[in-house]
Amino acid sequence: LMQLSVPLNFIGFVYREIRQAVTDIEQMFGLLDMKQEVTDAPGAPPLAITNGTVRFEDVHFAYDANRQILKGVSFEVPAGKTVAIVGPSGAGKSTISRLLFRFYDVQKGRVTVDGQDVREITQESLRAAIGMVPQDTVLFNDTIAYNIRYGRPDASAEEVERAAEQAQISGFITRLPEGFDSMVGERGLKLSGGEKQRVAIARTILKAPPLLILDEATSALDTQTEQSIQASLDEVSRGRTTIVIAHRLSTVIKADQIIVLRDGTIAERGTHAELMDENGLYASMWMRQREATEAEERLRRAREAA
Ligand code: ATP
Repeated sequence: LMQLSVPLNFIGFVYREIRQAVTDIEQMFGLLDMKQEVTDAPGAPPLAITNGTVRFEDVHFAYDANRQILKGVSFEVPAGKTVAIVGPSGAGKSTISRLLFRFYDVQKGRVTVDGQDVREITQESLRAAIGMVPQDTVLFNDTIAYNIRYGRPDASAEEVERAAEQAQISGFITRLPEGFDSMVGERGLKLSGGEKQRVAIARTILKAPPLLILDEATSALDTQTEQSIQASLDEVSRGRTTIVIAHRLSTVIKADQIIVLRDGTIAERGTHAELMDENGLYASMWMRQREATEAEERLRRAREAA
């Protein structure tokens, strides 16, 4: 009997191991199911841009079923206009840009570009139509010219230089020993946050997309850098449908409309002046941020004086 029970135990052990493995695989597939793959609809046509109007219609979205991030968000960015999205950290501002790119599908409602649901056109054509100036640009370990030309690989050297001028970075580049052929990135010249952002702006100017997302840097740049970057951003967003994801409030004053997100819904909307008059969430965020900026400035001046 002893001789038989050992192999039986062993078989039991193997059986449990296999059972466990199957469960793991089931769980794995379950997870894959949950993270719905975003794929092109069969026979989806490319996006046909007419003037570049973006609409969010009653958009509901959650990354995880148990936590709703957007609960019925509707707004329009008319062609060529700028809408800024503000709100407390974690309110879902960046999520809105991910839904426009269709990195995720909405659970209810729809996102359209010129009346076309983003789920019914090819992802490639959608993404080709959107330019993004991210918070933090990752540079390739290559020349600065390569990094700018990435926006449109067939651009000529003159076009690359013109884009750099418009992004107000050509002065900096021409002062480098090897100019546009200087190596940048982790293994080359390290650029400052502001310089990297200008490279991203130059890229976007070359790409010349009809739609633009500006993801404002969370980390504060010094006031002067911020003002000159703002001038370059104004340049690139002129005449383009633009969504500004505003983590700070200094850049939103000129937006055609400001949308204040809170708890997954739009709490307020209007121009800067209208929202200040309303004296609600936006106005209080604005006051708080101005006090913080003034405190920082005082601290900086005190340090300089010491
Ligand atoms: P901030 O101003 O801090 O950048 P935000 O308003 O841009 O915030 P989002 O990045 O849109 O916020 O995130 C909204 C919420 O969704 C946050 O609570 C965040 O933790 C959560 N979230 C973001 N990305 C994911 C993800 N891939 N999976 C699960 N949850 C996520």
